[in-house]
Amino acid sequence: MSECQNIVIVGASGAGSQLATSLLPQLPRTHRILLIDASSFASWPLASLRAAVTPGWEKRVAVPLSTESIFPSGSQHQVISGCKVVELRKNSIVLERAFEGSSEVPFLKCVLATGASQGFPMRPEPGMSMEAYTQKLQQLQSEAQRATKAVIIGGGAVGLEMAGELKDAGVKSITIVHNASHVLNPSSAPASTTNDHFSYNNPPTALKLSVSLEKQLKALGIDVILDDRVVIPSPSDAGPGEWDGSTGLQNGLKKLKTKNGKVLEADYVFQSIGNKPNVGLVQSVDPGAIVSGLVAVNEYLQVISKTSQSPLTDNYFAIGDCCSTPGWKTLQGAQSDADACAVNVINAIKGKSLKAYSRGGPAAMFIPLGKSAGAGTLDLPIFGTWLVPQFMVKSLKAQKLMVEEMFMPRFKLGSQKPTVPAPPA
Ligand SMILES: Cc1cc2nc3c(=O)[nH]c(=O)nc-3n(C[C@H](O)[C@H](O)[C@H](O)COP(=O)(O)OP(=O)(O)OC[C@H]3O[C@@H](n4cnc5c(N)ncnc54)[C@H](O)[C@@H]3O)c2cc1C
Repeated sequence: MSECQNIVIVGASGAGSQLATSLLPQLPRTHRILLIDASSFASWPLASLRAAVTPGWEKRVAVPLSTESIFPSGSQHQVISGCKVVELRKNSIVLERAFEGSSEVPFLKCVLATGASQGFPMRPEPGMSMEAYTQKLQQLQSEAQRATKAVIIGGGAVGLEMAGELKDAGVKSITIVHNASHVLNPSSAPASTTNDHFSYNNPPTALKLSVSLEKQLKALGIDVILDDRVVIPSPSDAGPGEWDGSTGLQNGLKKLKTKNGKVLEADYVFQSIGNKPNVGLVQSVDPGAIVSGLVAVNEYLQVISKTSQSPLTDNYFAIGDCCSTPGWKTLQGAQSDADACAVNVINAIKGKSLKAYSRGGPAAMFIPLGKSAGAGTLDLPIFGTWLVPQFMVKSLKAQKLMVEEMFMPRFKLGSQKPTVPAPPA
């Protein structure tokens, strides 16, 4: 049993690991970080679609998660990986298995960085081993290599990126079906400018980004059907030769129907499903701390609640994809939350006032279409939204998908630094 007071971080992905890295140099020796994740390995969603299509990439998107890979040797901090947090209490969390002799772990402060769930391949399936994850990616790669006619349901960022990956893999015909008048999300309501922490909406993407991507898709020979949606059947409704709602490689060419009466043919179907914030832990202890499906936080990143005497409001913070900080749910935003939260955890330990936070820096939205194409925007303070030239999207993101620049630095302080192979040619 440690003499230190615990700073618990639930979730060791982009938000949680960045928080640990930011806390490390500032944390007094009297405190230790317990970085907990349900998964036994760290994965890299940004390259998950390429890893699901292009052989060799599966080795670049997963790294074992351990105390040695994250923390310097001899430090008191610990990673508890492959272990789910199953309950939140006022001053402790409960793990699914014992740690240092007990499944209940007391803490001084707890930060929720539980992110979001999304279907495979965007996120690993719950409980999956790293070996099973890479094997399943290899299986998807072999399916994608055999596809000839693909239909992608949903023209959000994930659907567009998948279309680019399939194009690079040589799939001859690709059609994206999107239920709005432009790809992405340019017509969403603007983010609220009031100080109401009990509301959240996903800010719109720039129309010029959609238009640029639509032009590039056309140039790549990828068809886009707008203002329509694919009818998702239940398997028992599907007649001979009709699509049965399953994804991936089909057993021959199948017919898909759209709501507007179009009939499409595909031997490969990809469904671009949005992500679902992981808020179950909070929901079960205090539904009053949920806003628009996210963990409600104030400008200090503290959990707030409509419930009086909520067990979560004194000692809990939340950051990243699971929480209601205004802005897009991106890794960039999650890491910005993490850095701000580190300041407030340290201030709380030292009895200082907390620092109000709003996501600063230029918000970026880069959408690669395979290794050589894509578009992006940067929101700049004076200049507004800038459409980034294609060559910059290609060199900054599309070619190597930021594995070396953003995923590997997560392990830079670890006593055993993992490596990943270079991208396959
Ligand atoms: C295809 C794709 C491309 C993307 N491209 C970009 C991009 O270019 N730029 C960008 O900024 N963002 C991008 N994103 C978004 C980015 O991946 C997410 O915003 C980011 O991963 C959020 O980080 P997070 O730590 O908040 O959550 P997550 O990455 O979802 O991590 C949450 C972690 O919490 C753990 N967890 C959950 N519940 C529990 C529990 N009860 N107990 C223990 N552990 C738990 C999970 O196992 C997981 O490891 C992309 C996403 C996808 C899918």
